[in-house]
Amino acid sequence: MKQGIYSNLKGKIPDYVFDYKRKSDILPEKGFFLDTHAHTTASDGWMTPEQCIKWHIANGFNAFVLTDHNTGKNNKPILELQDKYPEIVIIPGFEWTTLRIHLNFLGIEDFPGKIKFNSTDEQIKSAIKKAKEMGALVQVNHITWTMDQPMLRKGKYTHPTRDQLLEWGVDGFEINNEMRWYDPKTVHWLERLKQNNQLLRPIFLSTGTDVHNPLKEWVTCWTELLLTPEELKDPNWSVIKKALSEGRTFRWVDHDYYEPFEAKLLKLNKT
Ligand SMILES: [Zn+2]
Ligand SMILES: [Zn+2]
Repeated sequence: MKQGIYSNLKGKIPDYVFDYKRKSDILPEKGFFLDTHAHTTASDGWMTPEQCIKWHIANGFNAFVLTDHNTGKNNKPILELQDKYPEIVIIPGFEWTTLRIHLNFLGIEDFPGKIKFNSTDEQIKSAIKKAKEMGALVQVNHITWTMDQPMLRKGKYTHPTRDQLLEWGVDGFEINNEMRWYDPKTVHWLERLKQNNQLLRPIFLSTGTDVHNPLKEWVTCWTELLLTPEELKDPNWSVIKKALSEGRTFRWVDHDYYEPFEAKLLKLNKT
């Protein structure tokens, strides 16, 4: 551990670095907090499935969805750990990753078929339809990040519009991603649709940590699920799915919330 975060620790982070508990002071003391977006070593994440669980517990979450890029490989191993960690609800998922759009399929263990990197509108539409038929909720991820890619900036490839995505059947939008990707435009757009009675079904708004490397990233957003006391007794995926489908979320975003992980590691290394 002498080189700290500079050594290549992908898949080899020591477990002791997850032995902490922290929560932003903006969060209500009681609440049910969900992270809709996380990666492990099955794609480009640094954590093992078990470390992904530990990281979410350390950061005050009550539930999270594992969403590796275009693979469901770590869903089975992570779900096998559910009994060992009853304090958190582990939800399988899949990040359908293309150049034009990233979609999180929440609640399914895998997604069949080839994924075209530069997908057409028809391919995006049929993926949304298929995922929903499989029982997933479909979340549009980090529009502001996707649109900031140089290719998209040049107008060569285009992100589908929010109106198209609504028409194609998505269930929700991630409006804060990772540490800084905020998307207030989606919030305003939905608000306007609601005011004009043009929103025909509930659409959830959510946040995702999109954690890849916990030694470089920290949490700045939490999705609070507004569950009933009855639902809180057993907050399993079907309860969470229902709450999301009904748009029962509150988003907490704290961009000031910061603790360099290097400091934490150094402190630990001294003991
Ligand atoms: Zn993504
Ligand atoms: Zn992601």
